[in-house]
Amino acid sequence: MSSIRRVLVTGGAGFLGSHLCERLLDRGHDVICLDNFFTSQKSNIAHLLDRPNFELIRHDVTLPIFLEVDEIYNLACPAAPGHYQYNPIKTMKTSVMGAINVLGMAKRCRAKVLQASTSEVYGDPDVHPQPESYRGVVNPIGPRACYDEGKRAAETLMMDYHRQNRVNVRIVRIFNTYGPRMHPFDGRVVSNFIRQALAGQDITIFGDGSQTRSFCYRDDLIEGMIRMMDGSDDFIGPVNLGNPGEFTILELARLVLELTGSQSKLVYRSLPIDDPTQRQPDITLAKKHLHWSPTIPLREGLMKTIEWLRSIDLEHYRPPTPNY
Ligand code: NAD
Ligand code: UDP
Repeated sequence: MSSIRRVLVTGGAGFLGSHLCERLLDRGHDVICLDNFFTSQKSNIAHLLDRPNFELIRHDVTLPIFLEVDEIYNLACPAAPGHYQYNPIKTMKTSVMGAINVLGMAKRCRAKVLQASTSEVYGDPDVHPQPESYRGVVNPIGPRACYDEGKRAAETLMMDYHRQNRVNVRIVRIFNTYGPRMHPFDGRVVSNFIRQALAGQDITIFGDGSQTRSFCYRDDLIEGMIRMMDGSDDFIGPVNLGNPGEFTILELARLVLELTGSQSKLVYRSLPIDDPTQRQPDITLAKKHLHWSPTIPLREGLMKTIEWLRSIDLEHYRPPTPNY
């Protein structure tokens, strides 16, 4: 295979997908961005439209599509709890039927497929930090299940197509990732806190704020994803990608207040059902096989994200499109 490849990025207009498209274009690849714009908008990829090696297709991954490609990064799926719970049936369809459709394409084209899985496959973990060998504690009937179980089923499909049809697959389990181009109204904790702090609004702490998350800056994450795709066929994952730096939600709120210089007050709201109490990736495998570990500390990544959120016009962003 030549070093220039035809690469499909599903969910390519989203927060992570748009950065991935950029990085792949910079490496000279032909990139097809496929998206239905459920949780994103064209502005994320508008600057790429003039690049001769970039192509945009508006399409829903739950429907089959015939393309000729060498590699597929499968990112299409709403990722923020508010977005994926908006239409949970559609979320499950997107993960499961989306995986079947890209795997069918990969089988036909002999393409390699990387699945963007998630730390949510570990549910509310009782092993800490979480290694890939940990099988997780997921509630299959709760409000997060459409996402968690959809992603678990997608992992299953990846492995079954690999064993049964010899499709060349990769699975990355992504832990909370943040950065510029997150949807400002996605309800995720980083975007919420920064937006609230910049507007002088109350910072909404769910529960008592003692739950933890480990936050990875998007550039680090994208680097890990590309290394996994380009890496040896002997290591297909699943591999955790995330920053092991673990913070309570209260610590995050205080850091955002400090970095924005905001006078916003902390207010406490009820904890959503099944909200995991702790989360931290064990990245031993990523270090060993991909020689990857995150380089951008939370403080630095937050500064870049704050700068970006200050620069955008919130009027240009809307909540997800009804999608029944
Ligand atoms: P995002 O919502 O910005 O991106 C998802 C993209 O997929 C959007 O552009 C959306 O319009 C598109 N999409 C949704 N349903 C689709 C469908 N049926 N057909 C075609 N396109 C569809 O979220 P993100 O943070 O960029 O997440 C990208 C991927 O990474 C997702 O699969 C997500 O589950 C995974 N992930 C992200 C994180 C994180 O912290 N950002 C953590 C774990 C996993
Ligand atoms: N959270 C919060 N206030 C907010 C948004 C989120 O306290 O305004 C909490 C949420 O309850 C969770 C953590 O922040 O414990 C991370 O939430 P997010 O939606 O970003 O991602 P999750 O890791 O839960 O998928």
